[in-house]
Amino acid sequence: MPVDYYESLGVSRNVDAAALKKAYRKLAMKYHPDRNDSPEAEVKFKEISEAYEVLSDSEKRQIYDRFGHDGLKGQMGGGGGFNPEDIFSQIFGGGFESIFGGGGRRNRRPRGSDYQIEESITLVSCLQEQDREILVPYEKECGNCDGSGAAPGTSPVRCATCHGQGQVAIDHGIIRMAQTCPTCRGQGTMIKKPCKKCKGDGKVPDERKVKIHIPAGVDNGMRLRVKGKGEAAPPGGDPGDLYVVLRIEDHPTLQREGESLITDLPIDMITACLGGKLTVDGLEGEVEVNIDAGTQPDEVIKIKGEGMPGLKSTRRGDLYLRVMVDIPKKLSKAQKQHLEAFRDAK
Ligand SMILES: [Zn+2]
Ligand SMILES: [Zn+2]
Repeated sequence: MPVDYYESLGVSRNVDAAALKKAYRKLAMKYHPDRNDSPEAEVKFKEISEAYEVLSDSEKRQIYDRFGHDGLKGQMGGGGGFNPEDIFSQIFGGGFESIFGGGGRRNRRPRGSDYQIEESITLVSCLQEQDREILVPYEKECGNCDGSGAAPGTSPVRCATCHGQGQVAIDHGIIRMAQTCPTCRGQGTMIKKPCKKCKGDGKVPDERKVKIHIPAGVDNGMRLRVKGKGEAAPPGGDPGDLYVVLRIEDHPTLQREGESLITDLPIDMITACLGGKLTVDGLEGEVEVNIDAGTQPDEVIKIKGEGMPGLKSTRRGDLYLRVMVDIPKKLSKAQKQHLEAFRDAK
């Protein structure tokens, strides 16, 4: 079951817009994946962002108040369209650095860009934690020029505009300000004859293997962060991070909703009337089901512990079977006679 939106933000049901925003800001600072590495924080961040998205929109909030999560189905994209980062930047206005570092982090030390890739996993493999090796695009140092970007036999020369400083002074009336050198773009050096292989970048595209750890109970759209496995570090800086977005493949018969699994269970009308035992395909093989006598169409049978594990506990959710009673379209003569006898019996 999805968590109640008011509860996940820790606000009362009559909360006003200002208090709602305040509650979201406080929790987002705590659980944003750039601040908090744990997979639980990732889930929590998604949860509060979704809650805020709904409750801050008066139309969606009304629907939610009346019909709950079901009323919003289709509107939240069911894991496809909704992006918690969008909500986050709407509230905080812009990138993460400007919020926590006052623009500091990126200015103090240059940093490689973050990469984001998708990795798909089967539903059954979400049952257990696992380590995987994935191939990630990567820019490695160009072997032809040893990363200098200058054609072999030549080397970068000092920039004539800034004399190797990377910055130039600009007069703004009475104020003199330092500005990144426009000729060398802050590098302090210029390449006269670029390396043919990397066209002066000093880097060439490649792939590398990265180990990732996927905890048990992950859900579609969750993002794992691998520190330092993004773009390589620029000179004197830090490498970017790698974000792996998990895509859980659809199962042919089982639908997942959080920790619950749901499937249809077709039974014949005799079993519905008299009861009986049968088997159904669960996530890890056949599961035995007891059908009570007098089971009705659309009745839901719960099989405990055959659902999905949560991120926080190893206890598994439940499997729900929606009963479909099969009414035969054709009957043999004998069957028809028996049913007529049944109808007339007292
Ligand atoms: Zn090169
Ligand atoms: Zn320069």
